[in-house]
Amino acid sequence: MAMLKIENLHVRIEGKDILKGLNLVVDAGEVHAIMGPNGAGKSTLGAVLAGREGYEVTAGSVTFEGRDLLAMTPEERAAAGVFLAFQYPVEIPGVNNTYFLRAALNAQRKARGEPELDAMQFLKLVREKLKVMRISEELLHRAVNEGFSGGEKKRNEIFQMAVLEPKLGILDEIDSGLDIDALRQVAAGVNALRAPVRSFIVVTHYQRLLDYIEPDFVHVMIDGRIVQSGDKQLAHKLEAQGYAWVAERGEPAG
Ligand code: ADP
Ligand code: MG
Ligand code: MG
Repeated sequence: MAMLKIENLHVRIEGKDILKGLNLVVDAGEVHAIMGPNGAGKSTLGAVLAGREGYEVTAGSVTFEGRDLLAMTPEERAAAGVFLAFQYPVEIPGVNNTYFLRAALNAQRKARGEPELDAMQFLKLVREKLKVMRISEELLHRAVNEGFSGGEKKRNEIFQMAVLEPKLGILDEIDSGLDIDALRQVAAGVNALRAPVRSFIVVTHYQRLLDYIEPDFVHVMIDGRIVQSGDKQLAHKLEAQGYAWVAERGEPAG
């Protein structure tokens, strides 16, 4: 059974069709990159999978481990293991990072019928993850994203993902605005989380990120559909030639 199966997904925002028959299958352990021009609907896809409000699904289906994902609340999706790292991570002034993370993790554990972690157990988990992610403990004591640089916010998102241990991580332009060192660190964090039971959908404009997070599959999304799929060579071709040659082909491949 596929981890994620998207069939003929049509999504409308404020009366306008954005996703227009999108198909995608993601199996456990795979990394799928989605590239495509601005406005293609990449962020819309992530938002719909995470269950954000304001998106009207007009046709198609999405299953996650065989369950109807679209019928689940955002909290149920998170508890089932779907994680969306936002393109522009939010600040939560005054809310301590550790407190926020423990509340989020325990809400998910509770929904799965697992025992909640007490403060000591949580601290142990968090220290392990900080080590793996090579992040300073100082991060725990700061408010969520408050006063963080762009790079720090993204690192924090990856750290949150490490603590929550999702089955499917959706990373929307985590490379935007990062310098090369921050990009490397964020990519190393993602790579440390790669596992046979965990999959990623990595949305990016730039091939460069895929030098650091090597995808198993690369898809091109144009005008609300995946029109071309291949391996990482496809990303190099897009970098060199742009999207026009794909668009000219018209009909979706496969
Ligand atoms: P991408 O991430 O590929 O750049 P988006 O999914 O952000 O594309 O946007 C796809 C299209 O949907 C764009 O034309 C955008 O203007 C439109 N869109 C996205 N979000 C909204 C919204 N909240 N309200 C109205 N239109 C939106
Ligand atoms: Mg965009
Ligand atoms: Mg986007």
